[in-house]
Amino acid sequence: MDKCPFCGIVQGQLSAQRVYEDQDVIAFKDVAPQAPVHILVVPKAHVQSASAVEDPALWGRLMTACTLVARQLKIEDFRLVVNCGAAAGQTVPHLHVHLLAGRLLGWPPG
Ligand code: 5GP
Ligand code: ZN
Repeated sequence: MDKCPFCGIVQGQLSAQRVYEDQDVIAFKDVAPQAPVHILVVPKAHVQSASAVEDPALWGRLMTACTLVARQLKIEDFRLVVNCGAAAGQTVPHLHVHLLAGRLLGWPPG
């Protein structure tokens, strides 16, 4: 999709610090990290948001990638976040899972 930053990263037109890639998913460091570890786990195919997922198996692929990224980075305590829609804080209209770690993460979140 034109002008989608995450499609740009998937296609190699925008640079990102990639930490993981498989057939369907890439993961890269967030450009504005909210924790010492802040990775975005992203489907290669453009899907606008969590509410637009057509293939439920995509969730399995994304969550599996999160587990593999955490193992690769030797992280045992982490939080996964999906913001869906502007009122929930979604700013990039391409589905992504935030993987946050490396500091105490309060609950409930703000
Ligand atoms: P959202 O607010 O949509 O849940 O999260 C979007 C995230 O993407 C934010 O944490 C933001 O810092 C990150 N982000 C936005 N544009 C870019 C980019 O071009 N490269 C990278 N690596 N992260 C981005
Ligand atoms: Zn996209």
